[in-house]
Amino acid sequence: MPDRIVAFVFCQLLGAALGGWLAGERGAFGGALAGALAWFVVDLVRGWRVLRWLRGGAEDEPPAAGGPWGETADRIRRALRLRERASEEAGARLQAFLAAIQASPNGVVLLDAQGRIEWCNQTAAAQLGIDPERDLLQHVGNLLRDPAFADYNAAGAYYRDVVITGRDSSPGRPVRLSLQLHPYGEGRKLLLSRDVTAVEQADTMRRDFVANVSHEVRTPLTVLAGFIETLQQLPLDEADRARYLTLMSQQAHRMQSLVNDLLTLSRLEGSPSPGVSEWTAAGALLAQCEQDARSLSAVLGKDSHEFVFESPAGLEVGGASPELLSAMSNLASNAVRYTPVGGRIEARWRLLPDGRAEFSVRDTGPGIPPEHLPRLTERFYRVDRSRSRETGGTGLGLAIVKHVAQRHGAELRIDSQPGAGSTFAIVLPAARARMLTPPPPGGASAPRARATP
Ligand code: ADP
Repeated sequence: MPDRIVAFVFCQLLGAALGGWLAGERGAFGGALAGALAWFVVDLVRGWRVLRWLRGGAEDEPPAAGGPWGETADRIRRALRLRERASEEAGARLQAFLAAIQASPNGVVLLDAQGRIEWCNQTAAAQLGIDPERDLLQHVGNLLRDPAFADYNAAGAYYRDVVITGRDSSPGRPVRLSLQLHPYGEGRKLLLSRDVTAVEQADTMRRDFVANVSHEVRTPLTVLAGFIETLQQLPLDEADRARYLTLMSQQAHRMQSLVNDLLTLSRLEGSPSPGVSEWTAAGALLAQCEQDARSLSAVLGKDSHEFVFESPAGLEVGGASPELLSAMSNLASNAVRYTPVGGRIEARWRLLPDGRAEFSVRDTGPGIPPEHLPRLTERFYRVDRSRSRETGGTGLGLAIVKHVAQRHGAELRIDSQPGAGSTFAIVLPAARARMLTPPPPGGASAPRARATP
């Protein structure tokens, strides 16, 4: 400010000196007036240039105006730069925030106070069929027309969710979505959507499983209770007593097998997959399996089965041997139980050319119609219910086999046709199969492990 006064006075003095020199005392007065006017004009021009720069958005460098106008322009420019940087940072933060919501596996829709869509992420767009651009400011009720959601929205009970059928749902591939509104701000709402198909399916499976187990246990229990009552109330002769006790023992065994299979399944589900450090000779597993199959055949009174058991010498398989044996025995036992008298059962291990090891059981039994094949490994799924029960089946054998195969990274192959017998095979990956090289003739050294290709 003082330099402004100095400049103003200087202009007047200069004008007065010039006027005085040219026209004496009157000229000095006129010169002082002209000097003051010149100062005003220059100042006005400077102010006007700063104003023009501001009107132009103050984007380029400020005009070179010294003095207070120059400082004003400079300070305005600095304040604008600071605000620009703050708004850039806020914009970047908003983008990062939106990107995080985009990455959410759940759908997110922001609704304004009128229930119109302000923004939605890709998941919500896909799940609810919203076009993030076209449907902007559309009322959510116009897009989500499910009556359950309309009732939920109208009732305002937002503490719970509502489950609706997804728009891509089909009888073969049902899709269920959970929707929940969360009020926030001034009348705004957040709509969250979540795919609950798997959760609902797991829930249904759990309920079916409990119902199936209860049913399976109830039948032998009812029979047992009936026999116990008969034994208590009727005076039976020795032969009848013995017959009843035999039947009771059969029912007790049936429950025992069921509980054992259930425990096996829950153990398989609850433990980590077996490593490849434990190697067992395939021949030893097969010998045990053969013993089980032959005794079952004898118990069922069908020892007229023709059996073939084969395993290449030196083949070893890696994994949990009790699990592998259980899977093999389940397949062999099914073959025995479903193949009529005189039928042929072949169980063999072989090393495939690509290094994998296959255990297969082939029978000449009744075979299985193709429509049943995809469901065979479901728990309690049976093609021939009465045959399964008669022969002590629990309906869990193939579910156990499937689990063991999965845990060993193996493939379960089922090949069967009605009237043409069945072949069930477990194919272990190459990493779980190896061939021991035979010891040199006369040599005393132990067999050496050779990894197969
Ligand atoms: P189950 O204890 O009833 O045998 P599984 O899970 O072992 O239960 O087998 C499921 C169903 O698959 C059986 O009920 C049976 O109908 C059919 N099945 C399994 N193996 C054979 C086979 N070798 N021949 C014909 N049907 C079979």
